[in-house]
Amino acid sequence: MSEHRPAPILPGSAIGVLGSGQLGRMFAIAARRMGYRVHTLSPDEDTPTGQVADVEVNAPYEDLAAVCKFASGVSVVTFEFENVPAETAAAAARCAPVRPGGHVLHIAQHRLREKTFLSEAGLPVTAFRRVNSLEELRRAAKDVGLPAILKTAGFGYDGKGQYRIFGESDFPLAWAAVGESEAVLEAFVNFDREISVVAARTMNGDFVHYGAVENQHRNGILDISIAPARVPDQVAQNAVEIARAVLAKLEVVGVLCVEFFVCADGTLLINELAPRPHNSGHFTFDANITSQFEQQLRAVCGLPLGSVTQFAPAAMANLLGDLWDEGEPDWAAAASIPDVKLHLYGKLTARPGRKMGHLTAIARSTDEALRHVERARCLLARDKVTHTQPVN
Ligand code: AMP
Repeated sequence: MSEHRPAPILPGSAIGVLGSGQLGRMFAIAARRMGYRVHTLSPDEDTPTGQVADVEVNAPYEDLAAVCKFASGVSVVTFEFENVPAETAAAAARCAPVRPGGHVLHIAQHRLREKTFLSEAGLPVTAFRRVNSLEELRRAAKDVGLPAILKTAGFGYDGKGQYRIFGESDFPLAWAAVGESEAVLEAFVNFDREISVVAARTMNGDFVHYGAVENQHRNGILDISIAPARVPDQVAQNAVEIARAVLAKLEVVGVLCVEFFVCADGTLLINELAPRPHNSGHFTFDANITSQFEQQLRAVCGLPLGSVTQFAPAAMANLLGDLWDEGEPDWAAAASIPDVKLHLYGKLTARPGRKMGHLTAIARSTDEALRHVERARCLLARDKVTHTQPVN
């Protein structure tokens, strides 16, 4: 699995990105700033990544000949979307180094493999059971207790493919909701808050992290991140040590995010791994010397990692498609707060729940950053409504 130290991939080289969403777009911005070329492959056209990349290849992930041709044209392949099929990563690996390796994708794209890996590694996870039939669901509920959450085993994200179970009468609906296919039943965690640690690791095992970030979700989708998290130092340190162990055990070369539940007594439980830059690390683009995207670039190119120093406390608010419900948000209104930065991903259609962009506020305290970013997001919506009302 581990590679010997090959020569670094230097500016001027082409980097291949599997996937073409906003994570690839911000990666491409960081890479182009440092003089690299970026190629992206996905089934879509005029994508957030493609709009910024040098080359946009439009092919299904299952088209292994296209994947191999794509990989042959770049010095290294990375990804911004972990749900690419294992065969795609394997096909790319025959033609170029793939970092992080396909084994990381394989584990992180499947909840059951991920949770099994973590618990076997002695890392703390929510109580869980594999479920393959309605009968197994009944038995699993006895083991983990109710309430619980049934989640699809593969290809889930942002709360998709999940069903909350409060009583036995919910079993048939929950089983139908996961498509009557392999699933994981998880105990419902009555957490105090959610945090994440975004970290990077090189081929030599060098490790950096952005500390604990506090995350607030709405409808299973990240809504707000606050950096640093408002948790005791010991909790933040424990989260970082767990993240360090995860990256080391998986031999990650690149960036990985560990998402946690924090219980009232400070106990940490890992909810999920994302083997790539993460929404909760977007603030690093504006608030840190080296962003999570540049860190991914440095790691996969075999360059030393950059400083993670954060200039000031920060807060990030996602802009979902719902904000477009009654027309275009008023961008000028958000720009009226000078310490708030606007990021839009170039997505052509706004749909409810779709991540269209985000705002980051930098301030003297996390509470102030949070106030600013929430106010900026309200202004976007409020002023839009004002514009659509008839003028007296
Ligand atoms: P996921 O897609 O698994 O990250 O879930 C999305 C969100 O749903 C999480 O960030 C939590 O807010 C909530 N959630 C997921 N699993 C659980 C759980 N076992 N207990 C309580 N809340 C959960």
